[in-house]
Amino acid sequence: MIRETRSIQTQLAIVGTGLGGLAAGIFAKYRGIKSAQVGHTGAITYTTGYFDLLGGLLGEQILDPWQGLSSLKKHYPKHPLVRIAKEDIHKALNLFNKELNNMGIGYSEPGNTNLMALLPSGVCKPTISVPLTMLAGVKAKEAKSPTLLIDFVGLQGFSAVEFVANLKKSWPLLTAQRIAFPDMIEGQQVFPEVMARALEVPSTRQKLAETIKPFIGNAKYLGLPSILGINKPDLIHNNMEELLGVKVFEIPSIPPSVPGMRLRELFEQKFVDKNVTLIPQHKVEHIELNDDGAKLFFKDPFGDIEISCKATILASGRFLSGGLKAEQQNIVETLLNIPVTQPTGRDDWYQEKYFDPKGHNINQVGVEIDNNFRPLNTKGEPINRRLFAAGTIIAHQDWVRQRCGAGVSLSTAYQAVKYAAKVLD
Ligand SMILES: Cc1cc2nc3c(=O)[nH]c(=O)nc-3n(C[C@H](O)[C@H](O)[C@H](O)COP(=O)(O)OP(=O)(O)OC[C@H]3O[C@@H](n4cnc5c(N)ncnc54)[C@H](O)[C@@H]3O)c2cc1C
Repeated sequence: MIRETRSIQTQLAIVGTGLGGLAAGIFAKYRGIKSAQVGHTGAITYTTGYFDLLGGLLGEQILDPWQGLSSLKKHYPKHPLVRIAKEDIHKALNLFNKELNNMGIGYSEPGNTNLMALLPSGVCKPTISVPLTMLAGVKAKEAKSPTLLIDFVGLQGFSAVEFVANLKKSWPLLTAQRIAFPDMIEGQQVFPEVMARALEVPSTRQKLAETIKPFIGNAKYLGLPSILGINKPDLIHNNMEELLGVKVFEIPSIPPSVPGMRLRELFEQKFVDKNVTLIPQHKVEHIELNDDGAKLFFKDPFGDIEISCKATILASGRFLSGGLKAEQQNIVETLLNIPVTQPTGRDDWYQEKYFDPKGHNINQVGVEIDNNFRPLNTKGEPINRRLFAAGTIIAHQDWVRQRCGAGVSLSTAYQAVKYAAKVLD
């Protein structure tokens, strides 16, 4: 069989389809830039679905993330978020939020303060925006309302009893009930993704509501693990509220997460525009940078694919997604061998204590950027004037401890697209 090379000519190539890459795609579309985007499933399918801007600093919770950005600047002057005007962070969060809502997944508007969102083990975390299917949980907890929490026979990693035990003191009217998911053989293991897809069928929702109803009693709210559909979760959520007659909310379950899958599938199905070429489930194998832009090379089962572009945004993430790789003694960037800022030796990658509030040094490694979000070489010069970086591959942020994953991804994508737009003519 003759394998022909297929060529794609575009203005902007985006490497990565995680939060940073997808946001870059949205911002490029918004600016009328023609883009091609390549990437595999990455950390996005692990996320809770909450969009964190800044929820923690040096072991303390942050309730006002906008104020928190000023403290962040004092302690972490090189953090990517403090290199971006607050106005641009606002724009990035709002634009992404608006586009998600337009495409079909409702998110709460990013506000002035963090919401205290629920996590599967019964703890709360500060975050700036939550899926609408989860918003009622924040309100129920805040008001300490009578609430019934449901879990399922055979579902691992989500226990309503554990959740209640951890929150009972501050939320005495919270109760737990375990039920069997409709049409499942009693005792078999059940999986959130399968349950979510099953609930896209109206008769399954009806059966689930019938099973839950006898336990509702005086509850005003009903909590479930996040299983309310992969597609059209807001429709399913509204329907469950109608069927049950109480406010319903979801709580994220352990990875791989349904809210992450929703985001991923939404983009694959709805991010359709004449200016956008999305090539999911593929990885760029090689990039050649030149004075006029770059060529990106990879293949699919039909042959070789070559993208020619005037600018490239590298949003290939960290270790989990393959943007960074830990070798025996050092950490490398995998596509272009861009220098990675890192501790001098492996012994300094981790602190002695796992929960050290300072966080682990390895979580802050990454590529250096200039003020135009271009990765730098060892001399501190841009590697190429048409190469930009976005997302968690950028050094000096610790999204794990600082709870700033989405904030870093969306805001840096906004900046990278803004500066890439300047080199496109
Ligand atoms: C368990 C877990 C829970 C989390 N919970 C939250 C949360 O509640 N709130 C929050 O805000 N954040 C959360 N995060 C963090 C959030 O997921 C990340 O901040 C975000 O996904 C980072 O986006 P990114 O685009 O930089 O990288 P990623 O999402 O990792 O995406 C990188 C992308 O690059 C692609 N890629 C890599 N190499 C190549 C290549 N050679 N060619 C093409 N593509 C390539 C990958 O396939 C992937 O698509 C969580 C993360 C994890 C792991």
